Amino acid sequence: MNNSQTMSKVHNFSAGPGILPQIAIDNSIKAIQNFAGMDLSILEISHRSKQYEAVVAEASQIVKDLLNVPAGYSVLFLQGGASTQFCMVPMNLLDENDTAAYLKTGEWAMRATKEAGLFGKVNVLATSENENYNWIPKDYTIPADCKYFHCTSNNTIFGTEMFSFPESPIPVVCDMSSDIFSRPVDVSKFDLIYAGAQKNMGPAGVTLVIIKDEILGKVTHKIPTMLDYRVHIKNGSMYNTPPVFAIYVCLETLKWVKGLGGVTAMETRNKAKAELLYAEIDRNPLFKGTCAVEDRSRMNVCFVLNKPELEEAFLTLAKERKLDGIKGHRSVGGFRASLYNALPIESVQALVNAMQEFEKANS
Ligand SMILES: *Cc1c(COP(=O)(O)O)cnc(C)c1O
Repeated sequence: MNNSQTMSKVHNFSAGPGILPQIAIDNSIKAIQNFAGMDLSILEISHRSKQYEAVVAEASQIVKDLLNVPAGYSVLFLQGGASTQFCMVPMNLLDENDTAAYLKTGEWAMRATKEAGLFGKVNVLATSENENYNWIPKDYTIPADCKYFHCTSNNTIFGTEMFSFPESPIPVVCDMSSDIFSRPVDVSKFDLIYAGAQKNMGPAGVTLVIIKDEILGKVTHKIPTMLDYRVHIKNGSMYNTPPVFAIYVCLETLKWVKGLGGVTAMETRNKAKAELLYAEIDRNPLFKGTCAVEDRSRMNVCFVLNKPELEEAFLTLAKERKLDGIKGHRSVGGFRASLYNALPIESVQALVNAMQEFEKANS
């Protein structure tokens, strides 16, 4: 079996940077020692070498293959994290007198909304903020006179996920940082998808952007070179030095995804893992989920104890059972178990076992 669990026996529920397939880590170690038979480390070679150019080309192709990216779209590997996309999107798509429509479903959506306000007007179509973002609003219409609609497919902190996307008369931009490659998506329904790699596709340091070329070039203001998508498209993500090693680790991770059957296979695995954990949360009288059942994320499972005073005791047991990274985000409290692609179902079972053990000890 190829996963970190086999090697370290630590179950890694980290929300991000998150667990990677062991084979991706092993192959990356080899590339650090001797990349592509060059007798040089991947850390010390030119990004313009033909061996490395092949890596970027292959990484871009595997993204296209896995997500069935239609013609007319470009795949980019950029830096600055998803957080830079929060400003890069409006900088490239919005003029001062234009309005952008945002769905405010969590902390990251809120930050994206705030950045858009620096470039134009923002229409927040719906939000679940007054209920601590524990559900996904669905009752809204996207105005045709806005420039684009922005949503967040998975709310990493609050544990909700969009399982359907609204029909839109305007371009759709989606932050898929924490569920990209976890399930099939119809890319043709989106005009710009972005994702920081460190949740579900690789290490920190690279951000994937999939963009429909024709939406660009319509704003009248100036765009700094490094923040202009057209510059990166024209230069194949090589306008400046790309995050060489991070892209390599993404490639190895995506090869693993492909080898297991692609995003459809990932969805089947991820559904099974999420169902196992949510079933225990719903069965176990000590615990409860924090989100609306229909919006529950398959990637980040948030839950609390009915008696919060037992929290430290459960965290101690989790530590003893080598369940790492389950402490909840401070804005939700309780626990958050992230079940990214590379997490094996055995790790989820180990968490469920600990919850049952805790129930016996506390009833
Ligand atoms: C983690 C995360 C971000 C922030 O990503 P950075 O790469 O740290 O900027 C943005 N959006 C979502 C949905 C996230 O999970």
